[in-house]
Amino acid sequence: MAQNADALPLRPATPAAEAPPRGVERRAAKPAPAAARPQPTGRDRDRFVGFAFAAADLLIETDPKGTILFAAGARCRLTQHDVASLVGSGLHEHVAPTDRKYLDVLLKRIVDKTRIKPARVVFQGFDGHRFPALLGGCRLESCPGSLFLTVLLASGPRHEAPAVGPGAAGQLLDNHTFTAILEDRIVQAREKGLDNGLTLLLIEGLQGMVDTMPEGAAAEVRQGIDAYLRGISADGDSAGQLGADRFGIVHTADVDGDEVQTHIADIIKEAGGDLQGGIRSWSLDMADSQLDAADAARALVYTVQAFASAQGGEFTIASLEDGAQRMLSDAVDRIGRARATIEKRDFFVVYQPIVDLESGDVHHLEALTRLEGMPSPADFITFAEDVGLIYDFDLLLTQSVLDTLKAYHLEPKLPDVAINLSAKTLMSPLFLRQFQAVTEPYGDLARKLLLEVTETVVVSDIGTLNDVLQKLRSAGFRICLDDVGAGSTSFQSLYGLQVDYAKIDGKFVRGAAGNPRDMAMLRSMVDVCLQLDLTLIGEQVEEPDHARLLNELRVTLGQGYLFGRPSRDFAYFAKDWSKMARKGGAVLWKS
Ligand code: C2E
Ligand code: CA
Ligand code: CA
Repeated sequence: MAQNADALPLRPATPAAEAPPRGVERRAAKPAPAAARPQPTGRDRDRFVGFAFAAADLLIETDPKGTILFAAGARCRLTQHDVASLVGSGLHEHVAPTDRKYLDVLLKRIVDKTRIKPARVVFQGFDGHRFPALLGGCRLESCPGSLFLTVLLASGPRHEAPAVGPGAAGQLLDNHTFTAILEDRIVQAREKGLDNGLTLLLIEGLQGMVDTMPEGAAAEVRQGIDAYLRGISADGDSAGQLGADRFGIVHTADVDGDEVQTHIADIIKEAGGDLQGGIRSWSLDMADSQLDAADAARALVYTVQAFASAQGGEFTIASLEDGAQRMLSDAVDRIGRARATIEKRDFFVVYQPIVDLESGDVHHLEALTRLEGMPSPADFITFAEDVGLIYDFDLLLTQSVLDTLKAYHLEPKLPDVAINLSAKTLMSPLFLRQFQAVTEPYGDLARKLLLEVTETVVVSDIGTLNDVLQKLRSAGFRICLDDVGAGSTSFQSLYGLQVDYAKIDGKFVRGAAGNPRDMAMLRSMVDVCLQLDLTLIGEQVEEPDHARLLNELRVTLGQGYLFGRPSRDFAYFAKDWSKMARKGGAVLWKS
């Protein structure tokens, strides 16, 4: 222990951004006037040793290359013998091969930045056993040539690391996990005053370049980028690969975009790569941005998603900074407006009949939202889904439709009404409870609701969604799967979701007459649905021919301009609706 203790009292070499940030610690670090500076005593030494062990299981001193000069504390399975036997070995030997490059980055950052916050590193015991630990470190001006490291054993990984194949980057988060961590970090930045930054990085042509490089060199590039981005990310686990050539990193505030670009260029050059495109980055200081917490998270996540999917051509190499900045401020404005629309209830509901194709009777109505001045709510709905506002909206709309039903509840032939619920809403953990709270005051009237769900969930969530749907069904609500055929997961949804109705996407209904492929799709979808015992609805029935075809195919219900456009006039449907689909007593399409 003597070696460490001689170096005390601890004083960071320079007050860099990663050095203890504020308050007490900074004051303590301020050098006292030389004459008055007290000499360390045995008590001082013990105190700092105490602090060090409070923070770590194992204390290690290395040279800047990682050769161990001193070790004290628990063996942590790194050696079979006394911890002192670690001296002389390289720290790299005790780290899993996949994390060795990453260790290089961390050691270099201690040299450059004076101090790093603990980052998650996978260690490897003498018996080959691997375990995660948090590695922190600093250097002291008074001990040039030494790095002081703390190792704190950690529990399992915060995210499941994907399987690492040869040459795979492996350790970076996927899009979905990165987004979740980003949201978490934004909240932390607000609530705990953590000064985090976000950088979006575009390495144009990376994929193409790596594909043409020899295997070893390609792995060098991938692992180099992986290790570096993790190394600069907050806690070593906040860097994600969002696309083939795009990355996102949440980091401490001292990381700057130019430094990142230069470093990436060096990694590529050292591996002998020849990048055809450019490297660009855009950084944002989360603490500086003027947004309130909830909207900041939503707008940022929206921007990151747009960057990930390379939407709108905003994020080109020539305009990444401008594009991202513009997208972010547009998103903030739009979220503000969408929120106001919802809070001020600036929308109304129109109703469109769904008719029985045989009898021409109205079977039920579909409630569709309308926003003032907008012919279709589709953009608003999609945006509300993307930024997490759809939940409030869907519940509000449910209530609004129930209020309308209640106003007409004495009508003898009050029609059933289908409402659209986003799968995102249904999957929200609070949904069932809150839906019950909204519907309960209306008693049996609420069972007039039919719930249309548009399948926009990833296949892995279908089971969860089905659980929610079955609870709703056992509470007496009928469910309709909307837009069947439109999404890539349709057949999986049909298979995995037990519902009462299936609504065939209008594209196939309108297309079938003139397009044999649409016809084939329509036939096979109808076939599957009938085998599953579902009642079928065809939508966008605009011509008598569409209705005739559906009827031949044994689709029993139809919806579309042929039978009636969406209308605000609920009273009409409530009082005299059965006339809607007929003309002079004859079914429209047969006349
Ligand atoms: P959707 O659920 O598939 O609704 C049917 C759409 O087809 C409606 O568009 C309707 O106006 C339109 N339509 C009806 N008949 C015909 C026809 O004969 N030909 C053609 N070409 N179109 C027809 P709308 O009202 O613009 O709504 C668009 C989408 O927005 C809806 O698609 C639904 O996914 C969503 N949406 C609408 N209202 C709500 C709502 O209150 N909540 C939620 N979550 N989504 C809603
Ligand atoms: Ca619908
Ligand atoms: Ca539809």
